[in-house]
Amino acid sequence: MANGSVRVRFCPSPTGNPHVGLVRTALFNWAFARHHGGTLVFRIEDTDAARDSEESYEQLLDAMRWLGLDWDEGPEVGGPHAPYRQSQRMDRYQEVAAQLLERGHAYKCYCTTEELDARREAARAAGKPSGYDGQCRELTEEQVAAYEGEGRTPIVRFRMPDEPITFTDLVRGELTFTPENVPDFGIVRANGAPLYTLVNPVDDALMEITHVLRGEDLLSSTPRQIALYRALAEIGVGNGSIPQFGHLPYVMGEGNKKLSKRDPQSSLNLYRERGFLREGLLNYLSLLGWSLSADQDIFTMDEMVAAFDIKDVNANPARFDLKKCEAINADHIRRLDVKAFTEACEPWLRAPHANWLPESFDQAAWEAIAPHAQTRLTVLSDITANVDFLFLDEPVEDEASWQKAMKEGSDALLRTAREKLAACDWTAEALKAAVVAAGEEHGLKLGKAQAPVRVAVTGRTVGLPLFESLEVLGRERTLARVDAALAKLAG
Ligand code: GLU
Ligand code: ZN
Repeated sequence: MANGSVRVRFCPSPTGNPHVGLVRTALFNWAFARHHGGTLVFRIEDTDAARDSEESYEQLLDAMRWLGLDWDEGPEVGGPHAPYRQSQRMDRYQEVAAQLLERGHAYKCYCTTEELDARREAARAAGKPSGYDGQCRELTEEQVAAYEGEGRTPIVRFRMPDEPITFTDLVRGELTFTPENVPDFGIVRANGAPLYTLVNPVDDALMEITHVLRGEDLLSSTPRQIALYRALAEIGVGNGSIPQFGHLPYVMGEGNKKLSKRDPQSSLNLYRERGFLREGLLNYLSLLGWSLSADQDIFTMDEMVAAFDIKDVNANPARFDLKKCEAINADHIRRLDVKAFTEACEPWLRAPHANWLPESFDQAAWEAIAPHAQTRLTVLSDITANVDFLFLDEPVEDEASWQKAMKEGSDALLRTAREKLAACDWTAEALKAAVVAAGEEHGLKLGKAQAPVRVAVTGRTVGLPLFESLEVLGRERTLARVDAALAKLAG
């Protein structure tokens, strides 16, 4: 990268739970920083006391850690521009606002909300641009005194330049915004609280951010930020250079609507609870606007980092496809080595996720069955239903499975199978031979013959390879379950 090293930032506001759109933004910034050997600044934009919460702040940090998106400057790691929580930087913003006022880049606006609303309505009715009309741009001292005399408290408003603002978006190419479309905007509230419109570019300037990669929803604020940047450069805040901007495409949810953070599908916690692997989720989220190559959907974060270029990001809206996200996750589960897979599942196999008692969990049985489960899971939480027959005293009662498997003649088949099972070596191979032989006696192919055995022993019609399951479950428990099924069939 020309001009020194890359400095990007991830700067969420701590409101609500982390969602996938936020993670996509964090991921692209992280990949960009790592690709260029640059710096990822993690900044918390907590200037809105009414909406921000400490809980949400903690969740953001926890999410970043779980995802493995490490940051170089920010909360807990510190850095040369600390503090990285905007709530702790208020004095800087006050100072900058005062300088902007003094140098004429901003002015006090005394208009009340009612007055602004009325003028906006009138402009709209007349078919004119309805943004702020610049009324307070050139107030005389007398006018100011009169307003103050009325007890009005002003906001601070930034004076936009009267010419168009053009910049080259790293994703969308050259964009131009005309003055009619970007009116003067508030940067400090009447109560003195600085707004996002001020603090975000001020911190980007102070923290020497070189590239701003963020969602397309923020595109309309970019010309304002660039104008503010130019003013900051003039008054000597920051190092005077203006970051390059790249706006990441919208993420669409169901029904061609933008995925909203209120959509259940967008809650990061949900993915964690279902047992997505971080590699799987990040792999999928990286495809929302980017791809490694036309024929490779599955890759590691190292591969992404090696290949990531912001110029390859597609400006078209991306579609969030849960099925694809799950399929990619399943692939990543299969890619784990058996030991890693075995360990990754364990949180789900212990209370409170499991429906058996903690002391019923049997580590040796789990390790024996784990290799047979690995190819079957979409998400790790699927593991409990696949192995519960090992840890429950009795198999789950699933009436639909029972009805499906237990046909006329199932009792006779089960009796024969029980005899042969009782007599055979307790290995998957021998167990299979026993059931094949039982089936032959009743004119049934293996598929039909094993169904009642499976339901008798596991409670379900589908599951892990049956004979490996029986081997792990053991002779005594298997036979007891077949006996229990026979008793139930006998009514
Ligand atoms: N705190 C802002 C947000 O969460 C950051 C926007 C930006 O990246 O500039 O929307
Ligand atoms: Zn005004």
